Amino acid sequence: MNLRKKRLWFTTMTSGLLMVIFSVVTVQSFNYFSLDTIREQGRMAAEMLRISLTEQMRTGVISERGMLFARLRTIPGLDDVRVIRGPLVVKQFGPGIDGEQAKTAMEKRVQATGKWEEEFIKADGKAIYRITIPYIASSTGPLNCLQCHNVPEGNVNGVVTLGFSLENMLHAQWLAILPLIIVLLFFGLCLGYFLKRLFQPMVETAESVKAIVASAGRGDFSGRVVATTTDEIGEIAHHTNTLLETLDQSIGKISSRIKSLGGHARGSESQHDLLEHTIHIVDEMVGATRFKQAVENDLDLDEIFERFKSILKEHFMLSHFSYYQVEDDRKQLKAIFVEGLDLGSDLWCDPEILVSSEVCRAKRTAACVSSIGAPRVCNRFCGQSKEMGDLVHICIPMMLSGRVGGILQLVMTADEAERLDDIEQTARLYLNQAAPVIEARQLMQSLKNTAMRDPMTGFYNRRFIEDYIDNLTSGIIRQKSSLGLLMCDVDFFKKVNDTYGHDVGDQVIVGLAELIKRVIRSSDLAIRFGGEEFLILLLNTDAEGCMKLAEKIRLTMEEYAFQTPQGPLKKTISIGISLFPEDGEGFWECLKYSDTALYKAKEGGRNQCLRFTREMWSNEDQY
Ligand code: GH3
Ligand code: MG
Ligand code: MG
Repeated sequence: MNLRKKRLWFTTMTSGLLMVIFSVVTVQSFNYFSLDTIREQGRMAAEMLRISLTEQMRTGVISERGMLFARLRTIPGLDDVRVIRGPLVVKQFGPGIDGEQAKTAMEKRVQATGKWEEEFIKADGKAIYRITIPYIASSTGPLNCLQCHNVPEGNVNGVVTLGFSLENMLHAQWLAILPLIIVLLFFGLCLGYFLKRLFQPMVETAESVKAIVASAGRGDFSGRVVATTTDEIGEIAHHTNTLLETLDQSIGKISSRIKSLGGHARGSESQHDLLEHTIHIVDEMVGATRFKQAVENDLDLDEIFERFKSILKEHFMLSHFSYYQVEDDRKQLKAIFVEGLDLGSDLWCDPEILVSSEVCRAKRTAACVSSIGAPRVCNRFCGQSKEMGDLVHICIPMMLSGRVGGILQLVMTADEAERLDDIEQTARLYLNQAAPVIEARQLMQSLKNTAMRDPMTGFYNRRFIEDYIDNLTSGIIRQKSSLGLLMCDVDFFKKVNDTYGHDVGDQVIVGLAELIKRVIRSSDLAIRFGGEEFLILLLNTDAEGCMKLAEKIRLTMEEYAFQTPQGPLKKTISIGISLFPEDGEGFWECLKYSDTALYKAKEGGRNQCLRFTREMWSNEDQY
């Protein structure tokens, strides 16, 4: 039952109950008073009649009692007046006038018991009070009954009955009560009105607070409670309004600031769940900030992209997404990770985007391209899947220094898109957080590449080894594998410079680098160690593998003819081989051993590959 109904109940019950109690008490006391009065008067009248009859007896005119009764019956309200003779009196004096015999049961009882009785009855639809008193024979007192009556002492000589009509009295009683009832009714109505007025502000405020708090729970803080009183109820309304005002302003400010930070910009429905929406955005922002902190501590871009992938899988619950990096020349895209269609190309898009970045709409426009609600917005998207049906895509550009540095592509079913209502904004939040870190890492990587690469051959230089060899060797030790060191040096290179000039010498160096590139695996590292000296590091290998590759390089070199303006030029190469950690405890020690082996190869006639042995080192010592 709500408060309004309770108030109605309480008001009605209270005023009704009070009215009933007052009315009952009044009528009861009135009744009691009236009945008592009539009873007294009845008894008195009966006694007076008996005395009158006794007097008639004494004066000897009892025979005229009929006249007395006739005159008494003319009194208004006196309904009945009778005298009844007892059996002994009838026996002595006869039955009397008009058969003065007991008619009612009450008269018979009084005749039998000698005790007076009364009754309230209804006769012919009229209320009547009837009283019957006995005539007791007595020899004492002012008149000796036994002088005339031949009866024993205490005999009930007869009874006198009087009947009074109560109609007039009831009428008078109602006339007396009616104003009282009207007053009571008025009092009841006044009480009801007063209680209603008393509870009205409470009920209205409670109803208003209920409705407004319910709206606030749904994120709508615009409602206000109307204060109708200045008491505590009015204060509740005032404080509730202040609270709502504060919430409205604070949440509004938070929300607009979040929007300005790149959060949501939703439609009108956001008014209804502003709070929920703001909490969601704050959650996402906290998540994105944590993500940024994590990527800041990531070792390199690979680790950052791995983290990005797991966020997309675990947080966004997506299984299809790609990331394309815009290459330095800005003309090409490089697929960093792609989870695409199985058929044909692995991309979700036309592979042409890789060779011509401008084909990608998101790259070209530097704006988010979403096919949600706009199918075929990009005709380079080929999102058809037999199992998944028509797919939608969201391609979000990642801005680096004001230009598109990468494109994140999210692919999903239409159902998923509906579930992930605000995925575009949230993904952008994460991208925005990661962008500065990715940019810094890319810059660092390109700086490192410049500093660590030999511009002539594109190979790493000595600096690279200095910076990375500790990481590399600790990995080798952890994996319990071996690192092969091949120190290669062109035989009699000075002659090339001397005979053909420095430019041809350079061409030979570049040509040799190409030969080496062709022969080694992509996991192997080639380093231009000095002028025409190359160090090749072979990962996960053994002595036999090293020797095989060294021989392959040597033979390729031997067979190859460099083109010079003076005609073909053939050169040979010598290679010294050592293994880490088999040959020495540290990398630099092993490097020294590979150099020793190279020296021995030169000494031994050149154009050969020699594996380092301990004897070489002791010979070297002796040397
Ligand atoms: P060996 O068989 O003992 O190795 O004889 P070599 O003549 O090759 O001797 P060495 O390896 O010591 O000579 C290296 C020469 O390579 C010395 C230097 O003049 C030349 N050189 C070093 N860097 C460059 C370069 O970048 N370009 C050219 N053209 N020559 C270089
Ligand atoms: Mg040389
Ligand atoms: Mg040399």
